Amino acid sequence: MIQPGSNVGGIGTGLVRMVRPWDEWLIVWGYDINQPPPDLDDEMATGIIRDLLGVPDLEPEITGYSLWGVNEMYATDLQKGRVFCVGDAIHRHPPSNGLGSNTSVQDSYNLAWKIAAVLRGQAAPSLLDSYTAERAPVAEQIVTRANKSAREFSDMFTALGVVGLEGDEMAAAIAERKADSPAGEAKRAALVKAMNTKNYEFNAHGVELGQFYRSAAIVSDGTEPQPPAGREDRDLYYVPSTSPGAHLPHAWVGDNVSRKAMLDLAPYDRWTLVTGVAGSPWTQAADAVARELGVPLEAVVIGPGRDVTDLYYDWAKLREVSESGALLVRPDKHIAWRSNQLPDDPTRELSTAMRTVLGR
Ligand SMILES: Cc1cc2nc3c(=O)[nH]c(=O)nc-3n(C[C@H](O)[C@H](O)[C@H](O)COP(=O)(O)OP(=O)(O)OC[C@H]3O[C@@H](n4cnc5c(N)ncnc54)[C@H](O)[C@@H]3O)c2cc1C
Repeated sequence: MIQPGSNVGGIGTGLVRMVRPWDEWLIVWGYDINQPPPDLDDEMATGIIRDLLGVPDLEPEITGYSLWGVNEMYATDLQKGRVFCVGDAIHRHPPSNGLGSNTSVQDSYNLAWKIAAVLRGQAAPSLLDSYTAERAPVAEQIVTRANKSAREFSDMFTALGVVGLEGDEMAAAIAERKADSPAGEAKRAALVKAMNTKNYEFNAHGVELGQFYRSAAIVSDGTEPQPPAGREDRDLYYVPSTSPGAHLPHAWVGDNVSRKAMLDLAPYDRWTLVTGVAGSPWTQAADAVARELGVPLEAVVIGPGRDVTDLYYDWAKLREVSESGALLVRPDKHIAWRSNQLPDDPTRELSTAMRTVLGR
């Protein structure tokens, strides 16, 4: 909301957001950080609400308020000795892009299976070093993106021509966007341009889904996700890929009764080796390596008459390896290693890859 006349020690704008159970509202309001923090009480909160909504006699029921500051900080070391940090403790940023909770859960998802593998004697303690290597770059990326998105809101104020204005002058500047005049036309064009930057806040699928890990817990084959022409922007576009380090791509697979997501074929409590009908010998290889290393590992064969079939032939387009190849998926659903086709000795190749990732 931009409300002329409501510039009470702040930036003259605020955020009004409906929250669960969808009959309550959250209002976020700025204050001048060069001044001491305001003493919040019911009276001040009521004033802010009335000013921002432009309804001077509104009687809101206030359930709570707190002071909160925008941060731009990320940690570069996420571990010290036995202590590992996750969540907002290692990436502090404004809510723009809605990245906070998701990234915090992802941190834990990345870390928990590694701790379990080390405690169960399946992996060397060095596996834990991959936590910082994989998640610290994500922390930097999301803090940078969220703060950029927050700053880009100022493009909107510039486009409206309201910077430094208050009251009637501000109202007139906002109203000018309706004018059938060269100034009105220029303002409308400026608004379209400013709105376009918000695409990087509301549709930044590359930032939301495109985490690509580089660490000793990934056996790189030198490849990285390759965006198709026109989708090179890494912030905006998520590029599905099976390059080691990428997240297992989604596709619908299943049988004539039920549909399953690829992601559900690789559950969190084990390692999964994904292959096709021509790669069936990988099943014995997976069993042998699971026994040899004492690690939960199972193969899933995708194809007609097998565990699941490629219902819409989407998986064949996404897997990037031949039908006899295999993808080794970690418990957190990131690809640890891949083989482009069935080698002479699949057990040895798989064992070598697993040992590399586990530090054994
Ligand atoms: C206004 C706003 C809007 C947001 N919108 C979104 C959104 O749309 N989408 C999204 O994904 N994220 C959003 N977020 C971010 C999201 O809320 C956070 O990223 C997420 O809650 C972080 O989780 P966390 O567990 O790391 O930290 P927290 O949720 O902060 O949990 C830390 C807990 O530790 C407790 N604690 C602190 N110190 C101690 C201590 N010494 N001893 C014991 N306990 C302690 C705290 O009380 C707290 O309960 C928003 C945040 C804000 C402020």
